[in-house]
Amino acid sequence: MNQLTIHEAHQLLKAKQLSSVELTKACLERIHQVEPEVHAFVTITEELALKQAQRADELIAKGDANPLSGIPVLIKDNMCTKGIRTTCSSKMLENFVPPYDATVVERLNNCGAVMIGKANMDEFAMGSSTENSALFTTHNPWDLSRVPGGSSGGSAAAVAAGETIYALGSDTGGSIRQPAGFCSVTGLKPTYGRVSRYGLVAFASSLDQIGPLTKDVTDCALVMNAIAGYDRRDSTSAPYPIPDFTQCLTTDLKGLRIGVPKEYFVEGMQAEVATAIRAAINKLEELGATVDWEVSLPHTRYALAVYYIIAPSEASANLARYDGVKYGFSSQEGDTMWEAMEKTRQYGFGPEVKRRIMLGTYALSAGYYDAYYLKAQKVRTIIRQEFDQAFEKFDALVTPTSPTVPFEIGEKVADPLQMYLSDVCTLPINIAGLPAISIPAGFADGLPIGMQIIGKPFSEETLLKTAYAYEQATEWYKRKPKI
Ligand code: GLN
Repeated sequence: MNQLTIHEAHQLLKAKQLSSVELTKACLERIHQVEPEVHAFVTITEELALKQAQRADELIAKGDANPLSGIPVLIKDNMCTKGIRTTCSSKMLENFVPPYDATVVERLNNCGAVMIGKANMDEFAMGSSTENSALFTTHNPWDLSRVPGGSSGGSAAAVAAGETIYALGSDTGGSIRQPAGFCSVTGLKPTYGRVSRYGLVAFASSLDQIGPLTKDVTDCALVMNAIAGYDRRDSTSAPYPIPDFTQCLTTDLKGLRIGVPKEYFVEGMQAEVATAIRAAINKLEELGATVDWEVSLPHTRYALAVYYIIAPSEASANLARYDGVKYGFSSQEGDTMWEAMEKTRQYGFGPEVKRRIMLGTYALSAGYYDAYYLKAQKVRTIIRQEFDQAFEKFDALVTPTSPTVPFEIGEKVADPLQMYLSDVCTLPINIAGLPAISIPAGFADGLPIGMQIIGKPFSEETLLKTAYAYEQATEWYKRKPKI
């Protein structure tokens, strides 16, 4: 039962062949079985889940079933959940219990969702492997000695291992797509502004976006139906109507114009990854799309540098709020306010978070602002314009999600730059505010490879349609790890 998709489970629930309590118990059983090896959950909300499941069963009995009613979901631990610890996998928020729900959580609740727990992540979503979690490292269900990707590694690993039916993640530079690729699940980073960020613990506010991690594309569309849309509590939320995202799922790609930007087949990319993605693009061509293999986006090469100025700058401002006074960890040591604040931040933040705060503070300081932050913002505009131009000719751009398959735990911790490079293919998309999806597209020696499909702003339907057609023609998504 725990291996069901949302749409399969919904059919069974509606037909009364399955109850939400049974489904929830199946997931909880699976959690207890594999969690000692996977470590995807920071908190398991067993009691709450069973209560919500019972309530969902009552609603379903009354014929009141939403497609998400009674279906277990795992929430990344940087989204506020009322009355439930929200740690951001940081010592700073280890005991933080939010007094309110994030908008996405509220919307899922309104659909009758069953929250099964909170997912491990890189501390404050800074990282690509969950090794930056201050709590513990999540392991990849496809090979337990490898990372699940990050920062939404707990969410992706749990979906792949069948511990939950689906999950929510957040993506600032690749944190939904890269772990989706590493765990062979589907992950969508919506257009900036499509999904409310209210109640998402801020990392880099102009880049952060919440999205689904699911077992297939249909589920991804169903979750988008529930979480997307205007929210007056998020001032950057887009006031656009939301379509029914399942309506666009067809298997005919006739008329679709695809571009393949050559800069995304970067130097140092694993050969098997490039080969698998080229084969996947051939498949899209077979399905009716026209493909231009010679697209060039020359400013892609600056995206990583731009990201590592802008994201840390915004992070340094956002994380200033953790001063040991308002909420979160508070060191009582020190004789003055400043000393107490220093001790609080010294203990509360891990090394990567401190590195980002230092980089960001430096880039924003009076003497360097123009040289770094302002320059980065200008290049950001150029990168966005380059994408805009490409989308005059193409409906979608297709690239690998990551340059490699999942790497070994410990392999890159000593070298932050190597770690940063695992997001070269995903970062530019956040810089430009575009939507992009990662879907399973093959394996190399049993390790997953993800394909990224990028679209123009608010073209999630085109992405879902392209992904769906490929998925239905290939069935990589049906493979499950043997854990
Ligand atoms: N890996 C990137 C970083 O460390 C992106 C993280 C994310 O998307 N949250 O910043």
